[in-house]
Amino acid sequence: MYTGSLESEIGLFADLCKSRDMLMADNETKYVRKCPKCTDGSIMTRKTHGYNNGQEFYGFDHYCDTCGEQYFTNRLHSDIFLHKPFDIYDKIETPFGDIKVKINGKETDFRYRTEIYETKSKAAEKVISIDIIDIDVSRLQINDIITCGFDTELLEYNDSDERSVIFSRETASLLLGLCAFEPYEWETDTFCYQLEDYPGKAFKYRIVSSPDIFDENELYESKFISLAVVCINKKDYKDPNTELFLALTMVI
Ligand SMILES: [Zn+2]
Repeated sequence: MYTGSLESEIGLFADLCKSRDMLMADNETKYVRKCPKCTDGSIMTRKTHGYNNGQEFYGFDHYCDTCGEQYFTNRLHSDIFLHKPFDIYDKIETPFGDIKVKINGKETDFRYRTEIYETKSKAAEKVISIDIIDIDVSRLQINDIITCGFDTELLEYNDSDERSVIFSRETASLLLGLCAFEPYEWETDTFCYQLEDYPGKAFKYRIVSSPDIFDENELYESKFISLAVVCINKKDYKDPNTELFLALTMVI
C-alpha cells in the first residue's frame, strides 16, 4: 500500500481510473494528485495513442514526476482486495438454509467480507448488505472441485452479465440471490479455475491449471473464487430483481 489506509488507497485508485481520459492527445499528460510515496512530486497520467501495422493502440501510464514511481491500477486493485479486512466463516445463514463451500465434497472455511449497496431509486430500505465469499484455491490441484451453495435444490437461473451469473430463490416476500464470478474459458493463463456447472444446489468450479503459476498480487481473482449473496424483502423495492442484480454485480 502507498497510503497506509484502505480508504485513501481506494481514493487513489479512483483518481487514477478517473484520469484515464480518452479525449487526451497522444503523449498528453494530466495531473492526478500529490505522490503519496515521496510526498514531493505529483502523479501524472500520460496517454499514448497510435497505430502499429494498422492496429490502433492506446495506453495510460501513471507515474510520479519526481521519484519516478509507477502506479499500476491492476496492482493497486489487488492490493486493495488483499488488504481488505475479512473474517473466516464456515457457512452463511439464510432464511432458506445455509450456504456452504465444499472442496471435493468436504465442507471448508472461506474468507468472508461485506459490502453495502445503496439504491438510487425510491425504496423503503435504501441500503442492501452484500455477503461476499472468497474461496482461497491457492493450494488446490488440477481437477479439484469447488462447490458453493445449498444442500438442496433451491436455486433457479435469474440473470447474468459479462462476468457474473446470478441464481436466485424467491418466495412471496423474500428474494435471495447467489452470484458467481465466471472467467472466460480462454482465460486459463489468468485464472486457475473454470465455472463448470450451475445450481440447482450450488455453483461448481474445477481447477484447470496449477495455482502455483499465478501471482495473486497481480490479479487477486487468480487464486480466489468470489461469490456474493444478497437477501431482500421484496416489499421494500419497486423492482426487487433489478436491485438484486445491481447489488450483486457491483461486487462480482
Ligand atoms: Zn513520488
